Amino acid sequence: MTQEQITKLKGIVRNIPDFPVPGVQFKDLTTLFKDAECLRLLEQGLVDLYQGKGITKVIGIESRGFIGGSMLAARLGAGFVPVRKPGKLPAETIQKSYAKEYGTDTIEIHKDAITPDDVVIIHDDLLATGGTMLAAYELVKSMNPKKVYINFICGLTFLNGRDVLPQDVEVTTLFDF
Ligand code: AMP
Repeated sequence: MTQEQITKLKGIVRNIPDFPVPGVQFKDLTTLFKDAECLRLLEQGLVDLYQGKGITKVIGIESRGFIGGSMLAARLGAGFVPVRKPGKLPAETIQKSYAKEYGTDTIEIHKDAITPDDVVIIHDDLLATGGTMLAAYELVKSMNPKKVYINFICGLTFLNGRDVLPQDVEVTTLFDF
């Protein structure tokens, strides 16, 4: 993407102060998704990062990671795999719990979703503290894929989420705040 395109996308993201709790500046990406030109730019931006890397599966994290993740999978000719909150996936799953600011959270993935032949991207809309992505990465790694990439549409650099993710994994964002 060009600098001009990045500036355009960042300008269209809507900031919602104090959502869902006081003190959080929530970056609402639905304003990008609803704009046809932005959606096309996002899709192409993601595809350009991963074309030619032999990706076989894109893993999207519930729920906002389903949007970019499925677009990217279809364009790369890869499959799509959801990571979901507990109790949503119908077949046998493996789970991972992780600490949040208040309490803990759990995510899960179908046990047969990934094989050792897979080259995967784990995708979410936004990198904040990185806790959710780290849990998803550990779930995916336990299934021994050949290679794992991590991608977000957007990163909040002041929260230093990159530091909690494994340093030997390539992590990309389309733009950062
Ligand atoms: P984290 O585990 O802190 O990296 O964030 C987990 C999820 O919460 C991400 O998948 C984001 O979708 C969402 N999220 C956290 N903080 C924000 C924020 N400031 N604006 C928008 N989404 C957020």
